[in-house]
Amino acid sequence: MIAVKGESDALSGKIPKVDDELLEEARAAAARQTREYAPGERDNLVGRIKRLLDRENAVLVAHYYTAPELQELAEETGGYVADSLEMARFGSEHPARTLVVAGVRFMGETAKILNPEKRILMPDEAATCSLDLECPVDLFSDYCDAHPDHTVVVYANTSAAVKARADWVVTSGIALPIVEYLAGRNEKILWAPDKHLGSYVQRATGVRMLIWPGSCVVHENFKADGIRKLMKKHPDAKLLVHPESPEEVVKMADVVGSTTALIKAGVTLAAQKFIVATEPGIFYKMKQAAPGKIFLEAPTGGDLATCESCLRCPWMGMNGLRNLAETLETGANEITVDETIRQKASIPLRRMMDFAEERGIAMKNRGNA
Ligand code: SF4
Repeated sequence: MIAVKGESDALSGKIPKVDDELLEEARAAAARQTREYAPGERDNLVGRIKRLLDRENAVLVAHYYTAPELQELAEETGGYVADSLEMARFGSEHPARTLVVAGVRFMGETAKILNPEKRILMPDEAATCSLDLECPVDLFSDYCDAHPDHTVVVYANTSAAVKARADWVVTSGIALPIVEYLAGRNEKILWAPDKHLGSYVQRATGVRMLIWPGSCVVHENFKADGIRKLMKKHPDAKLLVHPESPEEVVKMADVVGSTTALIKAGVTLAAQKFIVATEPGIFYKMKQAAPGKIFLEAPTGGDLATCESCLRCPWMGMNGLRNLAETLETGANEITVDETIRQKASIPLRRMMDFAEERGIAMKNRGNA
């Protein structure tokens, strides 16, 4: 059930659409970061960033979907590569005063919510996420107000303000036990913002929910037809799918899971070959964790075609060595969160973390996008 009949259409008509113009802007910003380096430029940038990390008492934390060179640099300089929640948790435990978050805005905000005393910088604060964009807080609050008897559960890919309006924050890995727990208490659930993840949770738990109609512009592109053809070509390959993908793709998967769970599956499954339906930035970690195994991009077209620009998250691509050096040099793009919102948003986030701890669920293995 996506919302209720009538409500769903009304909501879909109201939520801001991520249009081609917006995507082109993000891709143009990403292209500025990935344009070819002049001779010696890359090494100079890496050297400069290392000096600046020292000077600023800063540590670099990068998401799995960022460029391999950023993930490599994070690891090389004592930083961390992870999903958004683990990025924030690593930041809490690390003594550095400044966390440089290579990822998208909600990740920087989550880091700030959990680490208010630290300075949070991002290479480009305009790097966002379609799930966040499609769930503006005013519209979302109105929807919650219209359903006061529902417990509000939001995915981590939301703004601080939306988290502040929620009862629970969940990651894709911990969503199932939390929804089952709430249903066990006879609570009615309002889920936001990813309709595909919400529908996966609903199918897996059998719990009916009101579901906000947002989606990820990357995962939504995976096509069952194209994947089926690729599987025929590689019958020995296992299919790994992130649950932000459409239902018909999720249903074909050998493993459905968070980024962290998919990386783990690449290591633990006996197969030597995998078709992977998630953002290909993850291949850096997958290949590092399971050297020698083969990872193939799931097609985003029916004819084994893969459109590079559909497969890459345009906003993750806005993080590069150039703007990373710049932000460390100037202190630009500091992430701030209104203190009242921060305090409110920390409640459902901490609730999730306490739930995980009480039940012995390792958050490290329960990551999100
Ligand atoms: S890949 Fe999708 S969910 Fe992840 S940041 Fe990009 S738009 Fe958001």
